[in-house]
Amino acid sequence: MLSMNNTRRDFEQAQPQIAVLPVGALEQHGSHLPIGTDSMIAAEYAEQLAQHLDAFLLPTLAISSSIEHRKAIGTVYLRADTLALVIRDIADSLYSSGFKQLLLVNGHGGNYILKPAIRQLNRDYADRQAEMEVVLLSGAIINAIGDDSPFKHPGSSDIHAGEKETSLIMHLRPDLVRQPVPDGGVLPEADQSMLDYLDMTELCADGYWGYPDSATPEKGRLIAERFVPRAIDYLEKLKRLKASLR
Ligand SMILES: [Zn+2]
Repeated sequence: MLSMNNTRRDFEQAQPQIAVLPVGALEQHGSHLPIGTDSMIAAEYAEQLAQHLDAFLLPTLAISSSIEHRKAIGTVYLRADTLALVIRDIADSLYSSGFKQLLLVNGHGGNYILKPAIRQLNRDYADRQAEMEVVLLSGAIINAIGDDSPFKHPGSSDIHAGEKETSLIMHLRPDLVRQPVPDGGVLPEADQSMLDYLDMTELCADGYWGYPDSATPEKGRLIAERFVPRAIDYLEKLKRLKASLR
C-alpha cells in the first residue's frame, strides 16, 4: 500500500493504478461521539481496502456535505456542488499520472451528491475514451446491512450517531466515546427526507437519530470486518459485468 508517507520514487516503482479516497464529514454526532466520526469510519475502511488491493490510500477528505448539521458548532461543510467538483478534480489529477480507478469510501450518508457526480464522471471518461473509473462504495456496503445484520435497529430508523455509528466508534476508538452514552432512542416524527428542508438540530435537539443505547463494541467489530469482503464482491461484480459487454 502507498500513502502520503511514500516518495515519488516509491510510486514510480510500484506504478499503482488504484487510488482509495476516504470521504468523511466534520459534523456534530450528539454529546457522545466525536465530530470526526464519519471520517474515522471512512479512514479505517479505506485503509483496510487499500491494504487489500495494494493501492494508493489518499488522505481523508474530512469536510463534505453536512449542511443539515450547520447550526451545531463544530460542523464544517462544503456545498454539495463544491464536493462534486472536488471529486472531479481529484479523479482528473489521478488520471493524469496514470491511475485507472478511484474508489470512494464514503462514511457520510448525507453525501448524496457523490452518486450523480460519479455517474457523470464515468460517462465523461468513457466518451473521451479515457481508461478511468470512479466507484462509490457506501450505503448498503458501508453499513453492511443484510439478513445477518447484528443490529437491533438495522433499518432507516437509526441514521445518525445511533446504534451503528456508536458501535463502530466503540470498536475503533473506544477512548473517544463520551459517557454517558444517551439512554434511550430518539426517533423524530419525520423521515430522513425531511432533512432536505429542516436542520438536524430542529428534528433532533440532542443531535442523534436512532438508538445509541443499543450499541456495543462487538457489533462494531462485526460490521467493520465485513467491509472489505463486501467491497471486493461489489468491485468484482462490476468488473465481470464490464468484461461481459466487451
Ligand atoms: Zn455519522
